[in-house]
Amino acid sequence: MSAPLLPALDKTSLTHAATLLRGGGLVAIPTETVYGLAANAADADAVARLYEAKGRPRFNPLIAHVSGLEMAKRLGVFSELAQALAEEFWPGPLTLVLPKHRDAPLCDLANAGLDSVALRAPAHEAAQALLRELDLPLVAPSANPSGAISPTTAQHVLDGLSETIDLVLDGGPCPVGLESTVVAVDGDQATLLRPGGLARSAIEKITGPLAMAGDSDAPQSPGMLKSHYAPNAAVRLNATTRRDGEVLLGFGSIAGDINLSARGDLVEAATRLFAALRELDTKGAKTIAVAPIPAEGLGEAINDRLRRAAAPRDTA
Ligand code: AMP
Ligand code: MG
Repeated sequence: MSAPLLPALDKTSLTHAATLLRGGGLVAIPTETVYGLAANAADADAVARLYEAKGRPRFNPLIAHVSGLEMAKRLGVFSELAQALAEEFWPGPLTLVLPKHRDAPLCDLANAGLDSVALRAPAHEAAQALLRELDLPLVAPSANPSGAISPTTAQHVLDGLSETIDLVLDGGPCPVGLESTVVAVDGDQATLLRPGGLARSAIEKITGPLAMAGDSDAPQSPGMLKSHYAPNAAVRLNATTRRDGEVLLGFGSIAGDINLSARGDLVEAATRLFAALRELDTKGAKTIAVAPIPAEGLGEAINDRLRRAAAPRDTA
């Protein structure tokens, strides 16, 4: 049976979602980054079902979503720098990886048994309302089968997961459209684990120059698997023209079949990226060629996602 779809900001929908989540259910929720598949972070059975629904490899730790700093402090230990980052950027597309609090209400499966925890306060009104009503942290990886393109609309969620989840809250298209930026904070040291919806330059105003975690094969995070965000078609990067049998994803003056942003705006391009890859994928071309995207601002995260979409596919 296909999961029902309810309007996200309706009081009755939120109460229903909260009841499902308290009972161990899986609910897809809108956030400002992408749609998340939410489960109670303390409920090992619910989190196990979530891994199964996504077909996600078990070694990947999940992000615990909180209403704000107060709830976050039940889960993680905040250094001064971590607190400063949360105060500046929460709610918003920044995930902080911190030492796990001894009494964190988090099952081992949620953070893959690590002694660290990843925390984020989402800025979407519906996600906030749900977290405040529940007063429980929710793990919420992207609401799509593992490795596939992240969902930025409720319909994308239904396209991938409708049979395996309990409810989708429809909050319209995601305003940021890229997953959060992940930063590990150890005392006064910060490391960029994954570029994302908050530009590195904004974070560096507080942290100073950020080290980037080594791009090893060790799966530190789902977003760090080499092949991820992958359409069915192959992906060819830095394309300035369309070759035979290709569709072209454009940017700026390279119009393509879909242009991520005709005016060359990286924020607009980020918002459209995943939906555009999905749409081009439905055209049945063997390859999606992608125009060059500048590396500054959100371009760092866009290029990161595109490189992973273009990477050789795991056969597993
Ligand atoms: P996703 O939920 O798919 O947006 O991705 C979760 C991200 O959180 C991954 O990219 C990881 O980098 C990161 N993450 C979650 N928990 C941890 C942790 N304990 N240590 C390091 N990274 C983590
Ligand atoms: Mg994902």
